[in-house]
Order: sequence, then structure tokens, then C-alpha cells
Amino acid sequence: MNIHEHQAKAVLAKFGVPVPRGGAAFTVAEAVAAAESLGGSVWVVKSQIHAGGRGKGGGVKVVKSMDDLKSEATRMLGMTLVTHQTGPKGREVRRLYIEEGAAIAKELYLSLLVDRETSRVAVVASTEGGMDIEEVAHATPEKIITFSIDPATGPWPHHAQTLAKTLGLKGEQAKQLRTLLPALYKAFTQTDMSLLEVNPLIVTNDGMLVVLDAKVSFDDSALYRHPDLAALRDESEEDAKEIEASKHDLSYIALDGEIGCMVNGAGLAMATMDIIKLYGAEPANFLDVGGGASKEKVTAAFKIITADPSVKGILVNIFGGIMRCDIIAEGVVAAVKEMGLKVPLVVRLEGTNVELGKKIINESGLNVIAANDLSDGAQKIVKAVRAA
Ligand code: GDP
Ligand code: MN
Repeated sequence: MNIHEHQAKAVLAKFGVPVPRGGAAFTVAEAVAAAESLGGSVWVVKSQIHAGGRGKGGGVKVVKSMDDLKSEATRMLGMTLVTHQTGPKGREVRRLYIEEGAAIAKELYLSLLVDRETSRVAVVASTEGGMDIEEVAHATPEKIITFSIDPATGPWPHHAQTLAKTLGLKGEQAKQLRTLLPALYKAFTQTDMSLLEVNPLIVTNDGMLVVLDAKVSFDDSALYRHPDLAALRDESEEDAKEIEASKHDLSYIALDGEIGCMVNGAGLAMATMDIIKLYGAEPANFLDVGGGASKEKVTAAFKIITADPSVKGILVNIFGGIMRCDIIAEGVVAAVKEMGLKVPLVVRLEGTNVELGKKIINESGLNVIAANDLSDGAQKIVKAVRAA
């Protein structure tokens, strides 16, 4: 689960991480009120969307008067912000964060993430902060260093020393890093983050290290331990189909293609997506209905697929093991009865109770194209979609 920048900063502040003061705003009036309560004469108006690259897209502006603050807040609220992370459709800006302006001497990059290879939290750092880190990684990979932290000990002073050297920080700033790194690490591990990206970490003109931007993702599987963090979820930033799927405990990810897939098992789901691509089409989703899915769960899954207007055809590809083919068939039939079926449907069933599953579908009167195997199913659905 991702959260907004202002929420991430509030979480970090609880762990003693230095962040600028600020206030969230959903209206221009709230933006003005936030700036007034901050005081001072320089503020930053920041669009809150779950994507980076906002600055380049016009979603972050430094303002020096209340009039400019009002006009920037008016411009940003309701705008569709397109950045390299939002895709071409962009995201609607529904909330702002008003911060006190910082005088920046240096912009650095620092992130913590779970490194699956070492099973540790990895630290990634670079002097090239503020810009697109993917671009830095591509053009000047030597400017990025990474090391991991042993979970048994947490960060040692030598980690902060390595970091200071990498970031070119000495004296007072190196000293601040010795408390900043453990604070970030503690925030990361205690809240079960999967990503904490600070870009930029700045040195201010008066020599203070400050987290100027923060992107945080939490591990969904650990959210049950943090009801306070789970409450930060902003469903308007998420795909409605994915929210519905998560209510039914389905592993579903929306994609950009035209062929809806209902599959059991993550491996088979991946293979199904690959083979659809092989035959020249694109999957509209990844969906693993799981092992012991009930008829209700299958029905919910099928409804999510049929309700998606970009789906031009559906491929059901089930290898019945723990999952029984008749349960899948009953779910599909129940969903179609309720929702109707306006696109071609190819069904490939194999394994436990396959005969019963086929019988249920054949007797339902549904207009189904039967397939024998994975390759046959993919070719048939691509052909049917092309013909429609
Ligand atoms: P992003 O573009 O979505 O990553 O948003 P950021 O929060 O990183 O802001 C983009 C850039 O705006 C930063 O790299 C800074 O250069 C600039 N910026 C953000 N806040 C301030 C501020 O308080 N003062 C100044 N001078 N620049 C800022
Ligand atoms: Mn940033």
C-alpha cells in the first residue's frame, strides 16, 4: 500500500526524522489557512498523488506571496497531473500539501528497501538527488552506492560513516546522519515498509539535513499489524477493480491490455499472460483466484473482469488441483447470469472434476469456446477478439 507524501512525513516525524512543517489541504481556503498557520513568507505548494516526478510536471511550486499561493493551489486542485510515473492518463490532484519553504544548499538521494537477495534492508544513496534516480542509474551508475544492514544488529556507526562518505557529508552533517540513518531504519522496520525513498534529502543553507520528499510503501501482508497505518489508505488513488478484488482476497492486478484472464496459481497466470502476448494480444489483468476458492470468490473475480470496459475477450484457464473445475464452472455461470456476457469467452479446464466442470458449462447455455490446452486457448481468444 502506498501513502501520500504528507502522510509519509508524519509517520517519519514520529521516529524523530527531520521533516519541514506543513499542512494538508483539500480546498484553496484550507491551503491559505495552512500557509497562515505556518507563517513565514515562502511556501511550497505540493500536489499529493501516489506518483513521483511531480516537480517536472508542474505539481510542485515554490511561492512567495499569499496571492501566488492561492493561484497555484487553484491551478493544481482538480488538475490532471501527468508525470513519468503516472502513465499518459495522469492522476487527478485532490489534495495538496503546503510546506514551509526550505533554502536548499544540496539535494541528495537516499532510500531504504527490502533486498530479497540478501533478505535484508538495503540502503541506496547518491549525491545526485532531486532528479530522476532511474536516469542516474542508467547514465552514471557509479554515482549510486548500495549496502545492506544485518537485521540482527540494525545499523552500525560504520554504516552512517559509509553513507556520509558517499554523500560527501562531513562534520556537523555527518553527525546528523548518525542519528538520521537509525531513525529511518527504525521507521522502516517498525512500520513494515517495503520502500522508503527520500529524494531529495537536502542540506539546508544553515547546514541541517532535512527530508524534503518521501515516498513510502507498506508491505500489504503486514498491514493487519498496523490499523493506524491501514487507515491512511486513499482509495481514490487506487484502481477500483483492485480494491474490489482485495475485498474478496483475490490476487488481482489491472493491466492495459484487452484480454481478461481468470487463472488459478500465480505461475499459470504468468504463463497465460505470456502466451497471450506470444499470439499478439495483451492481457487486461493478472488474476490468480488461488487454491481453495469458493464459488462466491470465483463469481466475484469473473464479475470484476466482465465489468472492465477495456476487456474485449475473456480467457478462463484453470488447472484443477486443489481448485476444482466444477467450482470454477459454477462461478463463471453464476457471474454471467448476473452480469451478462458481451465478449467472447474461451474456457480451458483441466484436472480435478474436469468432466463435471465441462458439463456445467455445456448445460448452462453459455456461448463458450472450449479449448484443449494453454496454447489452443490463447490462440482461440486472440482470434475471437480480432474477429469481433
Ligand atoms: P517530486 O518531483 O514528485 O519528486 O517532488 P519533490 O518533493 O521531490 O519536489 C521536486 C523538487 O522541488 C525538489 O527536488 C526541489 O528541487 C524542489 N523543492 C521542493 N520543496 C522545496 C522547497 O521547500 N524549497 C525549494 N527551494 N525547492 C523545493
Ligand atoms: Mn522527489
